[in-house]
Amino acid sequence: MSHPSRSSALRRLPLDLATRMHALEPSATLAMAARAQSMAAAGVDVIDLSVGEPDFPTPDHICRAAEAAIRAGRTKYTPAAGIPDLRKAVAADYTRRSGLAVTAAQVVVSNGAKHALHNVFTALLDEGDEVIVPAPYWVSYAELIKLTGARPVILPTRLEDDFKLRPEALRAALTPASRMLLLCSPSNPTGVVYSPEELGSLADVAIAADLSVVADEIYDQLVFDGRQAVSFPTLRPGLADRTVVVAGVSKTYSMTGWRIGWSICPEPLAKAIGNLQSQETSNPCSVSQHAALAALTGPQECVATMNAAFQVRRDLVAARLRAIPGVRIPDIGGAFYAFFDISPILARGTNGITTSAAWCEALLEKEHVALVAGSAFGAEGNVRMSFASSEEKLERGLDRIARFVGA
Ligand code: PMP
Ligand code: GLU
Repeated sequence: MSHPSRSSALRRLPLDLATRMHALEPSATLAMAARAQSMAAAGVDVIDLSVGEPDFPTPDHICRAAEAAIRAGRTKYTPAAGIPDLRKAVAADYTRRSGLAVTAAQVVVSNGAKHALHNVFTALLDEGDEVIVPAPYWVSYAELIKLTGARPVILPTRLEDDFKLRPEALRAALTPASRMLLLCSPSNPTGVVYSPEELGSLADVAIAADLSVVADEIYDQLVFDGRQAVSFPTLRPGLADRTVVVAGVSKTYSMTGWRIGWSICPEPLAKAIGNLQSQETSNPCSVSQHAALAALTGPQECVATMNAAFQVRRDLVAARLRAIPGVRIPDIGGAFYAFFDISPILARGTNGITTSAAWCEALLEKEHVALVAGSAFGAEGNVRMSFASSEEKLERGLDRIARFVGA
């Protein structure tokens, strides 16, 4: 006998997905990397320049700290927001590098920066709130925002402006529902680094409109040509009261698999995020926390060494991409991505290929090079290449791309 309140028209099957899942896209970056890996496992000579993951091993002293933590029995639950020493180390490292004093109580350690972002959105966003996200944007932002019932408001930027959001465009996008601005500098996917003046003028708009700001600064140490990335909340007095900084060890120390990231924000919000995490996941992996502690407090030469290698690769990739007719790229000041415009190539419609997704698909099929389509980053007509790969692989990948476009 069916339940009287369930008419057959409204009947949901037991495993029908919740409404919030209907629009959820899988991570395009991780999906492309998985495809490239399975092709490689099948014996294909794939050059995977899809995922943003440093190719260097995690530095040895960090691995040894993890081994020691296991041997010392640090294999149990920790406080949900992270071990006190790590929270202290994150606060001290941030204070030293940014000049803005923060305390351990303002830090919540999470399962990667992605989880930190998810926590922040869950803690701050209500149904119907609008979050302003400049495009091109990193693939997970829009999806994580939508999961909360809030609405990502995607603001396109122009290659001519180095894909930077301008204050006029931000001002024009404001509505009574505007709640948050999301910024990522150095940027994934464009590699662009905002200047302090550019960030300051966005901060003025955010303050005037009373927005919260999430500053994704996970690439803050991966900057080139002697640049220094400034931390957003340092730019105006009081800005720290409305800003959450998200960062982590994944990129800086080549620790993507360890899953340690964090948020830094005013203490009451940090407490709420800690409470949320205590129900969601409990603590991030205890051993990984000890590894991250060693990363932050140990020798830092590894960071400079990896950055120097990334800068050489940036030079190589930028020069070779610029030499391909029809390809344009912005000034890559940091991170390890080249985001290049192929719209003149797509406009030719060769072999019926008119979208970035179709172009990437054909490149993978024909030349076995994995890139990620610009459409996944809200910027059709472009393609992202990760240059967190050896020079040899980059050269071979670029040879194949040049052959593919007939250059
Ligand atoms: N933000 C940006 C801009 C990223 O590129 C990444 C890369 N994964 C993340 C957050 C998430 O980092 P994690 O691997 O620490 O979750
Ligand atoms: N952030 C990296 C990228 O954009 C890793 C993959 C992911 O977390 O989506 O490729």
